[in-house]
Amino acid sequence: MASASSISSYYLHNLCSNILQRDPNSKPRKNITTLNKIRTFPLLHRPPICSSRWEGRDSSTFNIFASVASADIELDETVEKVQLPKGDTWSIHKFGGTCVGTSERIRNVADIIVKDGSERKLVVVSAMSKVTDMMYALIFKAQSRDDSYISTLDAVLEKHKSTALDLLEGDGLSSFLSRLHQDIGNLKAMLRAIYIAGHATESFSDFVVGHGELWSAQLLSSVVQKNGLDCKCMDTRDVLVVNPTSSNQVDPDFLESGKRLEKWYSENPSNMIVATGFIASTPQNIPTTLKRDGSDFSAAIMGALFRARQVTIWTDVDGVYSADPRKVSEAVILKTLSYQEAWEMSYFGANVLHPRTIIPVMTYDIPIVIRNIFNLSAPGTMICQSIGSEDENGQRLESPVKGFATIDNLALVNVEGTGMAGVPGTASAIFSAVKDVGANVIMISQASSEHSVCFAVPENEVKAVSSALESRFRQALDAGRLSQIAVISNCSILATVGQKMASTPGVSASLFSALAKANINIRAIAQGCSEYNVTVVVNREDCIRALRAVHSRFYLSRTTIAMGIIGPGLIGGALLDQLRDQAAVLKEKFNIELRVMGITGSRTMLLSDVGIDLSKWRDLQMEKGEKADMQKFVQRVHGNHFIPNTVIVDCTADSYVASRYYDWLRQGIHVITPNKKANSGPLEQYLKLRALQRQSYTHYFYEATVGAGLPIIKTLQGLLETGDKILRIEGIFSGTLSYIFNNFVGTRAFSDVVKEAKEAGYTEPDPRDDLSGTDVARKVIILARESGLKLELSDIPVQSLVPEPLKASASAEEFMQQLPKFDQDLTKRRQEAEAAGDVLRYVGVVDVINQKGIVELRRYKKEHPFAQLTGSDNIIAFTTQRYEKQPLIVRGPGAGAEVTAGGVFSDILRLASYLGAPS
Ligand code: ADP
Ligand code: ASP
Ligand code: MG
Repeated sequence: MASASSISSYYLHNLCSNILQRDPNSKPRKNITTLNKIRTFPLLHRPPICSSRWEGRDSSTFNIFASVASADIELDETVEKVQLPKGDTWSIHKFGGTCVGTSERIRNVADIIVKDGSERKLVVVSAMSKVTDMMYALIFKAQSRDDSYISTLDAVLEKHKSTALDLLEGDGLSSFLSRLHQDIGNLKAMLRAIYIAGHATESFSDFVVGHGELWSAQLLSSVVQKNGLDCKCMDTRDVLVVNPTSSNQVDPDFLESGKRLEKWYSENPSNMIVATGFIASTPQNIPTTLKRDGSDFSAAIMGALFRARQVTIWTDVDGVYSADPRKVSEAVILKTLSYQEAWEMSYFGANVLHPRTIIPVMTYDIPIVIRNIFNLSAPGTMICQSIGSEDENGQRLESPVKGFATIDNLALVNVEGTGMAGVPGTASAIFSAVKDVGANVIMISQASSEHSVCFAVPENEVKAVSSALESRFRQALDAGRLSQIAVISNCSILATVGQKMASTPGVSASLFSALAKANINIRAIAQGCSEYNVTVVVNREDCIRALRAVHSRFYLSRTTIAMGIIGPGLIGGALLDQLRDQAAVLKEKFNIELRVMGITGSRTMLLSDVGIDLSKWRDLQMEKGEKADMQKFVQRVHGNHFIPNTVIVDCTADSYVASRYYDWLRQGIHVITPNKKANSGPLEQYLKLRALQRQSYTHYFYEATVGAGLPIIKTLQGLLETGDKILRIEGIFSGTLSYIFNNFVGTRAFSDVVKEAKEAGYTEPDPRDDLSGTDVARKVIILARESGLKLELSDIPVQSLVPEPLKASASAEEFMQQLPKFDQDLTKRRQEAEAAGDVLRYVGVVDVINQKGIVELRRYKKEHPFAQLTGSDNIIAFTTQRYEKQPLIVRGPGAGAEVTAGGVFSDILRLASYLGAPS
């Protein structure tokens, strides 16, 4: 009978010859003598560690060093054959790397196994976390002739040694350590060989990297035994047989594996088996692996071989989330997934499950449950045959969209040309060229005419693909039948997965509109006939934003908006306080979540990645404020990819800030403002801004630029949109001037009323800013333009109430001192008006019919609505075709921080409802 060690000697010998016959193009061999020494390394001739029979062998141990048994090794006749009991009595558990990452965690896993009530269990275990990476690094370093592989190997040894010292004692410990040292010694020799050769074959690396699983399985089984359970340790290279396929994958040979399992079990009968994940053998008994993250696959194959009741995959998250929880913080746990949905999710990048895990269990209808080892109270996700998706009334039980996943580092290849249309075999020629270079096509999209075929391949394969296509289609390109073979680099795939999704009307529309609203450009689309998946290709830098946008469309019922507030002065400050007070109600009642990610003044700014605590934004701004920088501010507020929508609220009166709106809108940032500068600035800029607003899904709202919180713009737009014709807009647009003329009733001089208004805080610090009428003129121009007139501010004649000689006064104080000297003129006008039963009012007028605007002091009859005002109210009268005899009047307080902030707030909510918030 062949002993395990003689097989491993044979195998190692094979590996070494492999190196000697390596690729002639690789780096020259350094030292043949050393290599010869390695070929005759004493370990290769060491005496057998144990026999392949289970009797007489410490049941916890097995030959770590490549104990690859051959199927054709005859069983010792004297051993009584034990039949493998298959079926429901078995349950399979798989513990991922993080579950066995430390000695404490291994103890915890052992505890779970011991407590599991199943009659028979097989536990598949991954390498301790990071170990497989370290093992791959060993190979990489050695073949790059980087000496530091030695220290990495020392670290691997140290990690396992200290874990063992923590977990084991007595014989268990010494036997583990002696094997560990032996393995490390062997690995050192092999890595030295790789170092000298500057090359490692695939089978050589597979052999090296698989040690992580050998050690963790050994450790875990020893701990389970220490807990008093009879437990056998299975080196799955003795059982699992797989055939390599062309695309860096392997296909299990279930028949042969089944035979080997029977044999293994007859030698190691037990109700409790700890098996290595990840590793297997080829039919020639060469150790191999199931490729990265393959332990899930190991568990599924075992599930199928044992016809187990269930496969439980233990990991570090509560189950399968609707999206990668590291990218989408709002992702939710999915209770159930069908096999197909799970497959689609994992194929498109949800690495919580290896995509190949599904097939073996699906064959026997074995459910998979994903559970969190760190949260035993979470029930996890059940993956099984699809569960009926409708209740007895025919109502759909769950959303047709289940989850989203992404793959980065892709390139799109676009083969285009009119000569392709209707020519049979074009697609086949394209993909056979791609197959010849061994590239993996992840998705394909083709216009029905074959005029253009476009497909995604991994970025690192695209060069080979495009040259293969160019040479294959040289003639067609030269003849112009093909116009181009274009490569679009830096792409990502975003897959939306859900049973029957594609057959539910409206799903794709919601998906694409969510992407449009987040201003994301789609490069290609594919929807398989399977109805499980709609795949879009986007630019890589947009990928996370796209993922969050679609996820929030289907999962976040609340509309989440990232906000940047510019100008936390009177209005901005009042807005922040209103947001603070209203946030909870908005979230609860309307599912709207507003997160202020940045506040900037002209000197300092405050930024946050998750949202500023508005209950103390003033203190935070003082403590944590940094130097204001508009570019950085916008980048941080908008760059925050977990929130799909961004709005900048400009609460300044600054022209520079207003000049940035166009760029922000172009970047997909919504803009809301009470600042009049953009809409009353140069006409050309205004028209450009409005045109952009109309073309895009990005919104620009400015209700508070006229009449503070009063619905003036909204009313005007409502009239226009419903087809009314505006004839004239006339109103008292200045709260200050309203106050002044409402109180200028003959009891006091005009200058006294101005003084009183200034003292009561109704005027600007310099009252000339109000009395000049420019502010009213800006409001007039905004309304004129909104009504379709193409006027510049300079086209509006403005009657200034600042006496000509005082326009040049140095200061506000000086102006106030001098003003009484000029009272006479206005006193006279007031008396004349009064004598005729009139009052004076300072108004702005948009004369749409004559395409003019004006700002001036006018007389109104005492019965006129304008004469009835009190305080600082605004009043605006719209005379239209529908409201011709009786104008439509909007009246109310039109100035002050609170009401202006209220107007801005109402624009923010309007934005939220445009973005899909419930009404
Ligand atoms: P293990 O080592 O246990 O096999 P993995 O790292 O392979 O664990 O897989 C678990 C990880 O998969 C989670 O920590 C999570 O970050 C990531 N992941 C990606 N997409 C998803 C998803 N949709 N649901 C759950 N986890 C996901
Ligand atoms: N240890 C292997 C890896 O990290 C297999 C696994 O954990 O699934 O790829
Ligand atoms: Mg995994």
